Order: sequence, then structure tokens, then C-alpha cells
Amino acid sequence: MEVMRAFLLAAGLGSGMGLNAQDAVIQEVIEAMHIDSMIRFVQEMSGEVAVDLGDGPVVINSRHSDHAGNALAQLYFERKLASFGHVTETRSFNATGRNVLATKTGSVHPDEIVVLCAHYDAMPPGGLYDAPAADDDGSGCAALLEAARVLRDIPFERTIIFALWDQEEQGKIGSIHYANGMAADDADIVAVVNMDAIAYDGNGDRKARVHARPVANSLAIADTVFAVLDRYAFDLDLMLTNPGAVYSDHASFWSAGYGAVLMIEEFNNDGNPNYHTPNDRVQYFDVPYYEQLAKLSVASMATLAVPFDPTTSAHGRLGAALVNNLLVYPNPTAGRSRFRLHVDQPAHYRSALLNALGQEVDVLLDAELPSGDQLIEMDLTRMAAGAYTVQVIGPDGDLRAIRVLRIP
Ligand SMILES: [Zn+2]
Repeated sequence: MEVMRAFLLAAGLGSGMGLNAQDAVIQEVIEAMHIDSMIRFVQEMSGEVAVDLGDGPVVINSRHSDHAGNALAQLYFERKLASFGHVTETRSFNATGRNVLATKTGSVHPDEIVVLCAHYDAMPPGGLYDAPAADDDGSGCAALLEAARVLRDIPFERTIIFALWDQEEQGKIGSIHYANGMAADDADIVAVVNMDAIAYDGNGDRKARVHARPVANSLAIADTVFAVLDRYAFDLDLMLTNPGAVYSDHASFWSAGYGAVLMIEEFNNDGNPNYHTPNDRVQYFDVPYYEQLAKLSVASMATLAVPFDPTTSAHGRLGAALVNNLLVYPNPTAGRSRFRLHVDQPAHYRSALLNALGQEVDVLLDAELPSGDQLIEMDLTRMAAGAYTVQVIGPDGDLRAIRVLRIP
């Protein structure tokens, strides 16, 4: 982890830290997510205030699987996501269990899926008012809703699926059903960011954890979270837990062979004492801490989904003609690759490799080239798995770019 962070810093010093178009989108997402909005959602789903689900005001008390509030919550999430302009889908997986999903289709790679998720069911069972479950996991559900609100009109290269799981507390039943179904369909899930209990910081030390383990690209996803933490200067002390715990829905994706991480408050040494009690209420939140951890989680997911930038996307404004003059193969690559550049007139060319944050991580070429087809070797062996861009700047600032995928 430290190696990756030092590496990014060095790359930044070498190339300047100015915001590119993709960074600017992530910064915009961070600023557009409002803590007042998230707190309001938590109040609504944890019975602090009434909601109108189409039939007059109702109060969602317990969202426990056995209580009527569970179905009310499901309806609440469907209505909220629809009100933000998303097409929603509710999938039953047993007599009472239902996952609520919304899909935002990618502009360049619609088959590549990034999942942002949280669980909406609650503990403990008990009576009607026993499970407000504001932190576990109202906090994650509200961050997801706020992300869905803010991201609605922002195009991404990859497809984003917003997923709210049911029956996590009975053994991750909803997410296991979903992850196994996606694996059976051979769906290309490239990353999962699970938020479960992200609003409590009892001792005010700003510690939080990202849980990962060496399953698929999980550790590379955690690297992305740390890169985003540094890049946008979050006020958090983030720690990596590897191997990560399996007590929440991200583990359902590990079992299905997909890369996933859990974002969570420092539960190991500063756990919420109200966990699974009638006191798990919004009044015990550390509100500024919650804002930071929610925004870090969503900004990381958005970075993994890759904001669509027509100036660096092969399918964008630069068009097919330039792409024909710039060819990467093999692509995707597990390490060594090369690109072919067609040069019309002898001229000076500079080429750089950019990471998913748009930061220059390697200079591939800086030379006078003769005319004709040139083959330029590149080595991504030491790069973390993920999406990169090969950018070529020729005479008169002629910019060419093509995406290359580094696979584990
Ligand atoms: Zn939970």
C-alpha cells in the first residue's frame, strides 16, 4: 500500500498536479454530495421522520426482515431512486427477500460493471421500535441514495449498478443470490464498493477501514481508494485490513470470484456501542466523519467507473480516424504491450501513460520520429490492474489517446 502511495506522489511531482477533466468530475461529485441530504435520508429510513410513499405519511420503524417496515423501506428505495431519474428493479430471492437495484449504463464499456452497495435490512428483531439501524446500515444506504442523486446526469465509461441488499443480517442472503447469479451469467463486474456502517467515530480519531483480500482485483480496488483519499485530501485516517472480514455483502462477491472492498468505520477498536440495539440512531453519528467516509466511498466508486471524457476516450470526440492511427496490442494486457503510431511527417512526439485518475504514471516516448508506422513498447508489469490511457501528443499539439486495460 505504501508503495502505491509513494508512486502516485512521485508521478504527481513529475507531471504537475493540475486537475484534468476526469479529476474535475470527481471533485464535482464530492462537492455535490450534501451531508444534509444524507442525514435526511437516514432520518426517513430509521423512523425519525415520516415519509410519503404514495398513500399518505408513514413511519418506517424497524427494517428487520420480519417487520412491516422492511417492505416499506423497499418501497422507499424504489421511489427515491425513481425520483432521481433511475430505472429501478426489485428482485425477489425468497418468500420475503427483495434486492432493490438501479442501473446507470456506461457510455463506452456498458458490459463492464461497477457496483455500489449497502444493505437496507436491520437488526435486532424484537419489537416495532427496536431496529432503527441508522448506522448499520442506514448510513451506507443514505450515501448510496445521495450518490444516485448526484451521479444521475454524469456520464461514465462503465455501467454503475446501485444495489440495496435485503437479508444481509440473516447471512448475506440477498447479495449471495445476486453475486452468484451474475457469476452464472458470466457478468463482467470489475469492482464492488460496499458501504456498511460508515457514520460512527466514538473517539474522534478519524480512523476508518477498507477491507480487501487477494481475490480477483480487490487489492487494486483498495489501492484506488487510497489514491482517491490522497488525491482529494479527505480528512480520514484510512487503514487497510487484509485479509478483510467476511461479515458483510462484499464477501458474497469474493465467493463468486469478483473484486470487492468494504468501506467501514473503525469497527475493530472503536465499534459503535449501539450496534444492533434500539439506540442505533442518527443522534450518535459523527456527522463530519460520516460526510467524509461517504464521499470517499462514492468518489472511489466513481473513479473506478471512469468519468467519460471525450478528449481521452477512444470512442469520443477524437473519432475513429485517430484511433486508426493509434493501436495498442495486446489489449487488455497483463504486462508487456506495445502501441503502433502512424507518423505522416518526421516530427517530435511525446507519449505518456495516464492512470484512471488522469495522472501521468510513465513517459513512453519523447523523441523525434521518422515517418511511417512506429512500434513503441510499453511495460505495465508494475502498474496496478485497472484502466489506463496512452496519450500521444504530436506536432501542433495533435492529441491522440487510446485506452488500455491492465488485467491482474
Ligand atoms: Zn450491516
